[in-house]
Amino acid sequence: MLFAVVIQYTYNCAMLRRSFFSHLIAGGAAAQVASLRMQAQSEPSHKNVFLERPASGQPHKGKVLLALQAHVDDLPLSAAGTVAKLIEEGYTGYLVRATNDDMGDAPGLGMSGSIGENVLRNEQDNEEIARILGCKRTFNLNYSNHRMADISLNELISRLILLIRLVKADTVVCWDPWAHDEENPDHYMLARGVEAACWMAGRAHDYPEQLAAGLQPHAVADKYYFARRPEITRVVDISAQIGKKIDANRANRAKGPAGHLGSKLRAELAAKGERLPLLEGDDITADRNYIREFVMHHSRELGQKYGVEYAEAFHYLPAGSAGAGTDPTVEEYVRRHAVPRS
Ligand SMILES: [Zn+2]
Repeated sequence: MLFAVVIQYTYNCAMLRRSFFSHLIAGGAAAQVASLRMQAQSEPSHKNVFLERPASGQPHKGKVLLALQAHVDDLPLSAAGTVAKLIEEGYTGYLVRATNDDMGDAPGLGMSGSIGENVLRNEQDNEEIARILGCKRTFNLNYSNHRMADISLNELISRLILLIRLVKADTVVCWDPWAHDEENPDHYMLARGVEAACWMAGRAHDYPEQLAAGLQPHAVADKYYFARRPEITRVVDISAQIGKKIDANRANRAKGPAGHLGSKLRAELAAKGERLPLLEGDDITADRNYIREFVMHHSRELGQKYGVEYAEAFHYLPAGSAGAGTDPTVEEYVRRHAVPRS
């Protein structure tokens, strides 16, 4: 599991940002990629992992996707390709952001600014990410960044139940509430709230005032959970959506770690009389090529492991795997064994 541990560790936004510091300071990007490739070659292939390939047409037409992130960079780094893919395949998508991202980011990877400037810039970046991925609209829960550890979990669950009922969500994409090595309270608190809300939203006695206001009970069917060290049960081929994933990361100008670092690095090199062929062209091209080379190497390494160009990994929970519902085996037993009364 060493390869998976290394790769998935850097999926986390904080760890990824740290790895970018290493790249910039030590110039060790090529060495690190080579190291990961060596580990990939020694990693045995995974069994019992479903590879979700591109679907033809729009088989998910009429279904609703709720994509949830604690921070503006969570989905772009970990699941943007899958969100874009599911929307292309017919889902109506909504993007939920739990915090206001007011803590900004590490110096040098985003835009330095005050707490207020961080809030506005990240709000604007989040809207652009939703547009790029094809989401119908966003919902911002506006909890303080890094401060979700002691919020009311019941309040969060109630808000999420209302959203699930409001948009009639069939599928969620979110942080995994059961993942190892998670250090960010915003990630695991949102994940815990989502896990509870997904099944409680389908119960008639939970928050009946929402039903009186016109909503109906509606449980979520399946879940794509991402994590820094995930229990991988599903790998999604996002090769066709890599352009949208790159642009979603390019939209993270305020927080980084992608944003405009390509054009910024090109300007820094030019000031020293140097250039990189990778960063030739206009600013947008330089930023995209930088992101494809460095930020997307996680998706690329994972894809190569599963025989596709780019991929994302999930702990996937299919319909019927959670919550208390009618036992389908009873209906099946009755169908097979019931006889006419004599
Ligand atoms: Zn985050």
